[in-house]
Order: sequence, then structure tokens, then C-alpha cells
Amino acid sequence: MANDGLLERLERGPVICAEGYLFECERRGYLQAGAFVPEVVLEHPEVVTQLHREFVHAGSDVVEAFTYYAHREKLRVIGKEERLEELNRTALALAREVARESGALFAGDVSNTNVFVGDDESRRRVRGMFEEQIEWAADAGVDYVIGETFSWGEEALIALDAIRRAGLPAVVTLVIHQQPATREGWTPAEACKRLEAAGADVVGLNCSRGPRTMLPLLDEIRSAVSCHVAALPVPYRTHEGQPTFQSLRDPESAQRPFPTALDPFTCARDELGAFAAAALELGVRYLGVCCGAGPHHIRSLAEAVGRTPPASRYSADMSKHAFLGTDPTLREENRDYADRL
Ligand SMILES: [Zn+2]
Repeated sequence: MANDGLLERLERGPVICAEGYLFECERRGYLQAGAFVPEVVLEHPEVVTQLHREFVHAGSDVVEAFTYYAHREKLRVIGKEERLEELNRTALALAREVARESGALFAGDVSNTNVFVGDDESRRRVRGMFEEQIEWAADAGVDYVIGETFSWGEEALIALDAIRRAGLPAVVTLVIHQQPATREGWTPAEACKRLEAAGADVVGLNCSRGPRTMLPLLDEIRSAVSCHVAALPVPYRTHEGQPTFQSLRDPESAQRPFPTALDPFTCARDELGAFAAAALELGVRYLGVCCGAGPHHIRSLAEAVGRTPPASRYSADMSKHAFLGTDPTLREENRDYADRL
């Protein structure tokens, strides 16, 4: 079973992929919000390795190399383009180690470049950026490559083409901003259809939208394609009026909480579990959580689709709680006091 590839595992049932390394490393104090470049891979590789292990422990079936935003444009912005290859190869080696020790799938990763604007010059540039990252991923022996957070459908198609040329399976997920369309105006269903036609193995959505505002789009995508569908929301309470985590406004300050003041909007872990169960019911099998995800979200998601990851050994059991528990050996005086806590 551990030797099965992505597609074999998806044929059997759900595959869980923990994402959100950027936000979690930022939260832990090893990555700077704003530029959002994964320099932590070089400066504190042990933090990345530990997070890979925590996500697998919590139920992730995939170790995704932390090469998200480790592309030429991001490195250019911080003046460190010369470390691009080293950063990518190191991130891949860290992920491979944890995948090998755990039997999880090992995934490479490319993402939106922030360079694509829909002209020939940017088409050429982004293709070059994808090709170099995918070549390093292929060298490292990835099982497949994730292309994620594309808001231009065409940029996603270029990434997909580069992954296919490398002979690797492709999971391609789009970001859908406030308007329910890609930046060139394709509906999510139409964009996913095009990706499937171009050879993607799994298509779907990740990032930006929380469970409540991603779920309605999944139904349309599931009906539009015949390949496997992916859904990896952010764990924030987005809603119809503010459907993305960038569009949320804090009612107390009227400020935009993205990206470092989102804490009060965070979903309870069970909400991710409920999302996963609902998505699976729709026929969406590639499931995960993006920016903001913690291991507790991943565990809830895993348990909601019938898994018992190692971390389930520590899933809550309130029966032994001194005040709220039901264990007959507990002091009745404390139980009586429970409502006054
Ligand atoms: Zn994200």
C-alpha cells in the first residue's frame, strides 16, 4: 500500500494533503509575512522537517516539498536569486526524507509566479520558471507535482504542460478570488475542464476561500470533469459577503486582518472535518487544508473521512475532565460547579 502512487490511492479512497507551510512557519517565527519566501528551508531546515512530520502524524498522506514561492520572481524580490537552486533542492531533500521514513507520497510543488499577465513575454518567462523547478523536483524523485494557487487559468495550463513534459502526474488547483472566475474570466468549472482536457490527473481549488465559500464551487467542478477533484480551503470563516481570507474585514477595527491578524477568524477543527465529509460526499477525494492549517485541522479532516492517524491517540476524550467529565470516580462537587467555570 505504501508503494502505491497517487492515482492508485485515489481509486481506493480519499488522499489527504496538508498544505499551508508558509503560514505555519510564519506563525512559528521562522518566515517573514509580506515577501513570503521560504528561506526557512535554508536557515532552519529542522523546522520544516518537523512540520512535515507533524502533518504526517496528523494524517497527511502527502509530504509536499516546501518549494511554494521558492521561484525566481520571489527570490528576485529579496535579492537572493543565486540561492534559488539550493533552496529548491534542499526543500525537496527534506520532504523526501520524511516521505521515505513514513511511506507518504512525495510531492513537488510549483505555484503562481506573479509574473504572468497574459502576453507572450510573460508566457515565456513563467514557462522557464516552471521548467527549472520541475526539473529539480524530477531529479529528486517526486511521485507527482502539485501546481497550485493559480488565479490565471492559462498560467495553470502552462504549469501543467511543464509537469506533463517531465512525465510526472499533475495535481493542479486554482485560487478563486471574490469573483467566482479566473482572472481571464473562466468559471471554475470551465477552467477545471480545460485542465482535465490538457492532461491533469487531479483538478480543483485551494487556498483563499474557507470551507463555507469553497464548497458550493466544488459541486459545479465535480459535475464538469471526470478526473479526480481536489479541495484544500483555508481554515478561516469566510462567508458570502467576504468569500476569501484576503477580503475578510475585522468588525472591531474595520481593518483587513490578512495575513497576520486572522486568528479570530480561524475555523474550529471540527469545521474542517465537516467540510471534508461534505466534499467527500460530493465525490471530492483529494482533500486538505491550505494557509492557516495546523496539525489539529488535518487530524479532524482525516478522522472525518474515516482515518485513524497516529495523532488520533490524543484526540479529545472529555469523559475524564475534572469538571466536565462523566467518569464516575470524579468528584461530584466539581461536576456540580461546571456551569460556574
Ligand atoms: Zn494557501
